[in-house]
Amino acid sequence: MYTHSNSNLYTRRNFIYDLSFNVGFAVLAINGMTAITGCANNEQKSEEKSKNEKSENKLGIALVGLGGYSSGELAPSLKETEHCYLAGIVTGSPQKAEQWKKQYDIPDKNIYNYQNFDSIKDNPDIDIVYVVLPNSMHAEYTIRAARAGKHVICEKPMAITVEECESMVAACKEAGKMLSIGYRLHFDPYHVEMMRLGQKQVYGPIKKIKADNGMNGTSGWRLDKKLSGGGPLMDLGVYCIQGARYTTGLEPIAVTAQEGTKTNKEMFKDIEETISWQMEFPQGITADCMCSYSKGTNLLRAEAEKGWFELSPTYAYRGLKGKTSEGDMNFKGVNQQARQMDDFAKAIKDKRPTPVPGEMGLQDVKIIKAIYKAMETGKRVEVS
Ligand code: NAD
Repeated sequence: MYTHSNSNLYTRRNFIYDLSFNVGFAVLAINGMTAITGCANNEQKSEEKSKNEKSENKLGIALVGLGGYSSGELAPSLKETEHCYLAGIVTGSPQKAEQWKKQYDIPDKNIYNYQNFDSIKDNPDIDIVYVVLPNSMHAEYTIRAARAGKHVICEKPMAITVEECESMVAACKEAGKMLSIGYRLHFDPYHVEMMRLGQKQVYGPIKKIKADNGMNGTSGWRLDKKLSGGGPLMDLGVYCIQGARYTTGLEPIAVTAQEGTKTNKEMFKDIEETISWQMEFPQGITADCMCSYSKGTNLLRAEAEKGWFELSPTYAYRGLKGKTSEGDMNFKGVNQQARQMDDFAKAIKDKRPTPVPGEMGLQDVKIIKAIYKAMETGKRVEVS
């Protein structure tokens, strides 16, 4: 069971460990010769750690792209996983490589850059490559990882075109490797409850879904359409699409969409700032959705014949809250990312499918494309 209190414990423990490690290293650095011995010992220690993890039958994960999500969530979560561990990294920054090597005990032989990445095929420590790069780079690194004989987790949104998603699925199939999308919410008990209440029709047939996801501001590659593939719909709206799909257990038939007003035309010259869209599902169910880079909002709500149920906040890493027409939901917080990565490692070991496969990501990108087409044409667009 992964709890927040565990997560705090780990953080404190790691801090103390990092502190003692860094102080020890600084003392050694006073004497050049001793410092070299220190490096050799540390390398040996990292290799031993890797061997120990392997001997516990854990699968080795290499994170590709050491930005905010890798450093803030995935790497810390990999200290709480039972079936996998942080075995390697792929980064374009020698400084980051050095920092991560120390912080996470990663041996030199498991550190790659974007140029020598393909040689990861010869490294038995790495079983899974986790692609955590800007969206436009997901397809290339997923395909290269599959060709290097590795299983792949790719972050959401899966890629920026349907064709790219199809090539990713095909490359992993051809290599006989599994592909999963970083849909962490499938492993959170509050979202599992939304799936149960909706799909089992605990409050009768669903009539309406409402799903909103917005934050106030964004920056960097997310504003550059070549790298992001689009605005908040790609980044945040994908959670609303997912939420509507798994709460109803159904696939949307058609969509309509409207772009919101741009309050900052310069910042959002490439991408939408806000978008509202509607999805038609079978059985007359509709979903009203909205996402935005200039309005904080976080909701997944289902209205059914005999009651309602909702999460708010809903798409966050922690601190989720749920209510139904009968009262509060009450689940213990979990480490979503640790559960997600453990489930994938376990699926590989048990030779069973992942509940969040590449095909699921592909379907979301098809829906996203239909929504953009509806926004641009002002027409109802059927989802293929
Ligand atoms: P980030 O900007 O913090 O990190 C991006 C990383 O990619 C950086 O290390 C950067 O150096 C590297 N990079 C390599 N080539 C680059 C280039 N040409 N331009 C810009 N950066 C380049 O981004 P992030 O928030 O870590 O997001 C990475 C991916 O993870 C995205 O696909 C995002 O949607 C996804 N993500 C998922 C979640 C989730 O909850 N599942 C949360 C955050 C991000």
